[in-house]
Amino acid sequence: MSPFPFTDLETAAYCPRKLYYRRRDEVTVPERVAERRELAFEYERLLDAPDADLAALPTALPPDEYRANLDRAADCDAWPDLCDPAERERLVAGKDCRGVVHKVLDRDGPVPSMVFTGDPPPEGVWEPQSVRTVAAAKALAWEHERPVERAFVEYPTHGVVREVRLTTRRKAAYRSALRTARAIDGPPPRLRGDAKCDACEYREECGVRTRSLRSLLG
Ligand code: SF4
Repeated sequence: MSPFPFTDLETAAYCPRKLYYRRRDEVTVPERVAERRELAFEYERLLDAPDADLAALPTALPPDEYRANLDRAADCDAWPDLCDPAERERLVAGKDCRGVVHKVLDRDGPVPSMVFTGDPPPEGVWEPQSVRTVAAAKALAWEHERPVERAFVEYPTHGVVREVRLTTRRKAAYRSALRTARAIDGPPPRLRGDAKCDACEYREECGVRTRSLRSLLG
């Protein structure tokens, strides 16, 4: 079986049925996602940018909050590499998965950093994004023939950077997503009463009653 795209594994971790829909449709990256992702390559300029410039960018926070988050991120030991990575948007193929690693940092070995344009959770990273990040680390490790035990996740619309350790739990979630992606050969069952459906672009086609609809119907 050929390696799975990182995004397949991320989607499998979100909802197997959503992965079924995505494989059926051709999904392209919207322009606004590319614009927001670009913020992750402009940190040094953004740290010193005046309020008016920050306000004109696709950030999710007022300029002072955004700058404060970037200031906190700048305390990270890998900050210089995050601002000026050894490689950007590198296509990597591993044994089981393949895809684009948004930044490859050279930290005595390769360290991936993945950029997500949505909102961060209050702490850590969302589970599907953790799966995609582990996939990126696994593919890099395969190419470099050495373990990769550390990664970063960036939320550039918030100026937030979080470190991800490849713990046993994270690796198990990655393997579970891999099994799910391998097993799909027809529409998997819908999630039941899950908040994820509220944010899913397939909710109408899927026919689930979202939580907001249920609360309206009582
Ligand atoms: S609406 Fe819910 S069950 Fe249907 S594909 Fe989306 S997340 Fe999965």
